[in-house]
Amino acid sequence: MHATLDSIYQRVLDRNPGETEFHQAVREVLESIGPAVDKHPEYAQARIVERICEPERQIIFRVPWEDDDGNIHINRGFRVEFNSALGPYKGGLRFHPSVLLGTVKFLGFEQVFKNALTGLPIGGGKGGSDFDPRGRSDREVMRFCQSFMTELYRHLGEHTDVPAGDMGVGARELGFLFGQYKRITNRYESGVLTGKALVYGGAQVRREATGYGCTFFVERALQTRGDSLAGKDVVVSGAGNVALYTVEKVHQLGGRVVAVSDSSGVVHDPKGVDLELLKEIKEVRRERVSTYADQVGHAEFSSDRSIWDVPCQVALPSATQNELDADGARSLVRGGCLLVGEGANMPTTPDGVRVLRDAGVLFAPGKAANAGGVAASALEMQQNASRDSWTFEYSEQRLREIMVDVHDRCHATADEYGRPGDYVAGANIAGYARVAEAMLALGLV
Ligand code: GLU
Repeated sequence: MHATLDSIYQRVLDRNPGETEFHQAVREVLESIGPAVDKHPEYAQARIVERICEPERQIIFRVPWEDDDGNIHINRGFRVEFNSALGPYKGGLRFHPSVLLGTVKFLGFEQVFKNALTGLPIGGGKGGSDFDPRGRSDREVMRFCQSFMTELYRHLGEHTDVPAGDMGVGARELGFLFGQYKRITNRYESGVLTGKALVYGGAQVRREATGYGCTFFVERALQTRGDSLAGKDVVVSGAGNVALYTVEKVHQLGGRVVAVSDSSGVVHDPKGVDLELLKEIKEVRRERVSTYADQVGHAEFSSDRSIWDVPCQVALPSATQNELDADGARSLVRGGCLLVGEGANMPTTPDGVRVLRDAGVLFAPGKAANAGGVAASALEMQQNASRDSWTFEYSEQRLREIMVDVHDRCHATADEYGRPGDYVAGANIAGYARVAEAMLALGLV
């Protein structure tokens, strides 16, 4: 690593002990932006990198709530407002028992660069809780969301901080959160949350956007090699919002998704996943993917097989961080994989990325490939601000254009800095340059 950046990284390690995922995210960026730091000494003089690594504000709060049997539970809520040089803090809320401050900081840090890459006016932030919605009744989820928003509302605003969903936070949770925000503030402030249902100010294509966007990015990346998704076997880890709509778009573009997964195991369907059935199982019945194999005779379910052992030409890790390690990457290479596109945030470990890079596999990092979700959120904010709503076709067209731009920006930046085809360098440098320029313009704030 560049010497100045290495000393900045050491300081990040010292000041944020135990936050391993945050360290990993910072390291990955600092390892690639050396050439941009050399090219712009004015950024170094203004200590831009040090400032980017320190969130503008971190909020931690208690979230007490009562379950259906009258038992009291105490969870912890977080919102890390990382950087607002380009616009209001923007980024999702994650409800998952594994969520710690370091998790939210890693996600918030990634979000700053991702949002910058979209070219839209959004800063970066992230939030969430260690609350586990799994197995909870709708009323319990509602009581939790109301308690969470009773603290969070004072930090939000359409021009200040605009959360959305992430793992464990979908349309149901966002509805309860918006209801409580409206009740406390007495304001119908549609633009304060994105990912809303269509009936109360949501936008077409927001639900599909992360998966569709990742697929558009991948299609564009394949095009640079004179190739396409048509006729390819694809594996998509996960079976949440990102994975489901990735499967949908891959199928529309002529690829065939042969495996999906969730925390219970992997389903391999060599004939191509039946998406309508999978949606019914995951979105309506909220069941596990094993049910899929119970209903589809030729599909196989395994609770201990790795999804990366299923041979494919394209792999789209879309579940969670660090799910694809060096062993998984080696399996993919053995199985003939040409491209890995990250639908989730940081799903590939640093060792995994190295294995893929050494084998010449095209690698599309999450902060570029999964930017479609937040890009569609920015379009939702735009529609809310003008009290307008666009058609599905127009919204999808805008999303596609944005993803092609994100791809081309990463590709061109990688070329400019002598790293052709290196989307990690391209994404990190292009994201950094845009945030740095805005921060420089705004003075020491
Ligand atoms: N949680 C999503 C992400 O990781 C979406 C954020 C948003 O729409 O604000 O980018």
